[in-house]
Amino acid sequence: MSPEGSTAIARAEAGLRRAPRTWLVTGVAGFIGSNLLQRLLELGQTVVGLDNFATGKRENLDEVLAACGDHAHRFRFIEGDIRDLQSCRDACAGADYVLHQAALGSVPRSIDDPLLVNAVNVVGGLNVLQAAREAGVRRLVFAASSAVYGDHPGLPKVEDAVGRPLSPYAVTKYVNELYAGVFQRVYGLETIGLRYFNVFGRRQDPDGAYAAVIPRWVGNLLAGRPCVINGDGETSRDFCFVDNVVQANLLAATAPSQTAGVVYNVAQAERTTLNQLFGLLRAELSAYRPDLAGARPEYAPFRVGDVRHSEADISRIREALGYRPTHRVSDGLRAATAWYAEHMAEAGVS
Ligand code: NAD
Repeated sequence: MSPEGSTAIARAEAGLRRAPRTWLVTGVAGFIGSNLLQRLLELGQTVVGLDNFATGKRENLDEVLAACGDHAHRFRFIEGDIRDLQSCRDACAGADYVLHQAALGSVPRSIDDPLLVNAVNVVGGLNVLQAAREAGVRRLVFAASSAVYGDHPGLPKVEDAVGRPLSPYAVTKYVNELYAGVFQRVYGLETIGLRYFNVFGRRQDPDGAYAAVIPRWVGNLLAGRPCVINGDGETSRDFCFVDNVVQANLLAATAPSQTAGVVYNVAQAERTTLNQLFGLLRAELSAYRPDLAGARPEYAPFRVGDVRHSEADISRIREALGYRPTHRVSDGLRAATAWYAEHMAEAGVS
């Protein structure tokens, strides 16, 4: 066993501490971007962040910088839009690695406004690829999505078996993959796509019409609002704690060249139904708010564009990158609810 421990992530992080790099994180003020920023700063890296605050928040950056203390000065923020090529060029200048997270997420949002979601996710994503190529970065790792599995019935989901997309969002994420593959084959830019499955954790936005289910339900429970389950509650998802996603990004950026040019599932490989999820969240939050122990969900019709079941096969990323999720769903929910309980109490929701 090496002195740094035997896991791939321990070796990758030790290598980065020894030889710090410069990283661009797009979407840095968002949920996943701010978690990437925090880990990179903790590891002594230099980070440039690009965001236009479409859905991200300044408070996320403030929280990370406050937590990182002396490391915070290695962060430079550029307020800009990935639809603007020059902003992408400015942000990519001098970067070794790009972690591209900026996008408009949410299936329902894309059904409401497909043109906007296409402009940001597809045109913006292409700008980031182009700028990264011009800047000669070592590798670009980008946020892909389990949405690309669409109507393919196979379970668990394996990377090479995708179906027809069920939403404009899924199309944009698939186009990102196609362009990244082309940039690797035609221009030699190393790219890796990470198909995230329902990610959750600290700083995921609980507010607004397009909030993801976990923060939305936590927010609703704490504020005394009803939690709505679309369908019968037996719809299932592979919920993945954000620290696992951070691990996957660090591994993807630093793994040998032969691992690039492909996409990898990033998940826990554990299926949780919405009914189970509600029960788990209620149990966790009851530790802070005993009055929530008897809370019940409300049921509403199924939503257009939603897939019924989702669960990842993570063999490819385990074998190629040495990914080992550190947080099971219950561990992640415990950590996430602790964060929400603290921060929503500060914000006056309790
Ligand atoms: P988020 O909304 O919290 O973060 C996205 C960030 O991108 C925000 O800070 C937002 O302001 C920024 N952004 C949006 N449009 C931009 C633009 N035009 N220019 C610059 N910045 C812009 O969402 P997230 O959950 O952190 O998602 C990060 C990435 O992961 C996205 O690409 C998303 O599609 C993908 N993804 C997320 C999940 C999930 O479960 N959260 C699942 C699959 C894929």
